[in-house]
Amino acid sequence: MESRLYSSPVSSVNAARLHSRIAALARFGALAGGGVTRSCWSPAHEEARAWLLDEIRAAGLHGWVDPAGNTFGGLGVSALSASTPIVLTGSHIDTVPEGGILDGALGVLAGLECLQTIREAGAVPRRPLAVVAWSDEEGRYGSLFGSRAFCGRLDAAALESMAAVDGERLVDAMARAGFDARRAPDARAPANAVHAYVELHIEQGPRLDEAGVPIAVVDSIVGIRRARLTFRGQADHAGTTPMERRRDAFLAAADYALKARDLVVDGGGGRSVTNVGVVHVHPGVSNIVPGRAELVHEIRSPDADTLDRLARESQALAVAVADRRGLAVDVVAMSRTAPVTCSPRVQTAVEAACKRLGLAWKTLYSAAGHDAQNLALVTDAGMLFIPSRGGKSHRIDETSDADAIERGANVLLHTLLTLAA
Ligand SMILES: [Zn+2]
Repeated sequence: MESRLYSSPVSSVNAARLHSRIAALARFGALAGGGVTRSCWSPAHEEARAWLLDEIRAAGLHGWVDPAGNTFGGLGVSALSASTPIVLTGSHIDTVPEGGILDGALGVLAGLECLQTIREAGAVPRRPLAVVAWSDEEGRYGSLFGSRAFCGRLDAAALESMAAVDGERLVDAMARAGFDARRAPDARAPANAVHAYVELHIEQGPRLDEAGVPIAVVDSIVGIRRARLTFRGQADHAGTTPMERRRDAFLAAADYALKARDLVVDGGGGRSVTNVGVVHVHPGVSNIVPGRAELVHEIRSPDADTLDRLARESQALAVAVADRRGLAVDVVAMSRTAPVTCSPRVQTAVEAACKRLGLAWKTLYSAAGHDAQNLALVTDAGMLFIPSRGGKSHRIDETSDADAIERGANVLLHTLLTLAA
């Protein structure tokens, strides 16, 4: 039965073609033991970009790359303009080190497949459509780099000093790939150039897989706070200093990490998480009581007020822990992104696509950051997820079932047709 929102001869994507493109993209940066390392601007990434542009053009779409390295394929459009707002879909083709083959790649290749399917069917949506692969989503140099540039959120003054953890500067990495980093802010899209944005992604967590539900309609994306805490105690002889006289900075940091975990779990409304993923102890030898300990503490929540409160309470906790142990502590905010709400219009379009295809869905918030959170600042933006088998992601055995991929691509297809109608 045809929807009243649009009518077209298009019903489903070519799943075999989508799977073969996923396998083809996975060869760029492939690791011997499975999985892929394809950091933005690396030779593997640039080879993947060239391949993607070839696929875009072979599919009958217009291909172009903007000054931030975002790679586009347009159907009925070859550039962005305020006078012809487009419906945009996409994700990213960069990966974390030793990552999986679907994170990002799925959304780009399913988007390409949808546009090719629509073009081949001779369907003419009212609005032009485009697929995009955003630059450096994973943040080797700056997370969500390409979509930030596109949405006018790039800090131009910081570009010169941006560098990867191994020290390589962004300007050098981009120059090697044929880009001028100083021009990246020029990727900013004209106002109102995007009518709507929808991104298909793997869930990267266990919720859909365990619920046995094929599709998630994403209603919000978490905000993230990162802070660097430095506990300052006293370095001392690890053998001769009586235990009760020590001002051990590592123990203060450990005490804080455990208590902060409880604070976030108990006070986060069941929807907040926390991580201490970086710890440095100084001077870092076994026969000296640590005089200084630095850690990077991250808190995520889909609720802005909760996130604000948890960040405030964590800072107060750090001071209390340091006081009780006779140490000092500095807390320096490193980054903050606000949670975003996905557009009700996009959520409704995804739900309508699920209904049309007879698929159950579940409404979830995204516990990971995504480019859609930047797009949500400039247009109606939303996301849909398919299950990640076993909830595994950011690891080489990340995978989703072939049927799940096909279902996700078909839901994306009908969502795009609704949004472009
Ligand atoms: Zn991703």
